[in-house]
Amino acid sequence: MIYFVGAGPGAVDLITVRGQRYLEQADVIIYAGSLVNPALLDAAKPGCKIYNSAYMTLEEVLAVMEEAAQKGAVVVRLHTGDSSLYGTVREQMDALRERDIAFEVCPGVSSLFGAASSLQMEYTLPEVSQTLIITREEGRTPVPKKESIAELASHQSTMVLFLSSGLAKKVQEDLLAGGYQPDVPVAVVYKATWPDEKILCTSVGKLAEAMEASGIDKMALIIVGEVLGEQYAKSKLYDASFSTAYRKV
Ligand code: SAH
Repeated sequence: MIYFVGAGPGAVDLITVRGQRYLEQADVIIYAGSLVNPALLDAAKPGCKIYNSAYMTLEEVLAVMEEAAQKGAVVVRLHTGDSSLYGTVREQMDALRERDIAFEVCPGVSSLFGAASSLQMEYTLPEVSQTLIITREEGRTPVPKKESIAELASHQSTMVLFLSSGLAKKVQEDLLAGGYQPDVPVAVVYKATWPDEKILCTSVGKLAEAMEASGIDKMALIIVGEVLGEQYAKSKLYDASFSTAYRKV
């Protein structure tokens, strides 16, 4: 059996209980070494074979999975955060389906949520933004035209950019082109929940300059929006003058 496990954003105790159990049972672990905290591998049992997929192609990963599955071994494919976001997991799942190899997916805490907890913020605030756009700047991986940052920026909703911290100048230009004002707040979270996490608070107009000065150009999320500011309306749910199914005025 193959288990795709979300490793969480970095801190070793932010993997799920279920994911930790699979790690402890694994005969083979294939982990995404560029981002997964290697300290998680301390949970592996003696004799567990460990592969770092940063040095492997898709075919090599599949070959390890296939051989292990034929022997009835337990394989954990450990992906950073949650595997459903920029996880390269679909191509693996499709290949396993073709080969009739059984697999399961165990969710993880995305760095998206690790970063919000580090910032002690809320992505969705009444009367500010009720929508979160998860996207990335175009790099070597193309992004559909309709999803360009400038296009998405027109919504002025909260936006989280993955895989874009090496492209800060372009991000800034696109956000401005899309209509964000230069003073809209931006937070950059480098290695959220890792011991060497860094937080940078800046604004759309100063993003590129601030990131250059900080030296952050990888493993970071760029969070944009007025939810990082001071203004918002309080919730209706806990408003004393507002009846809910559980609480009458
Ligand atoms: N599936 C992962 C994302 C993988 S894509 C998840 O759910 O988090 C890799 C990108 O994720 C990185 O370039 C960076 O933008 C972001 N990332 C992953 N871990 C991070 C962390 N601990 N802190 C900040 N950003 C992180």
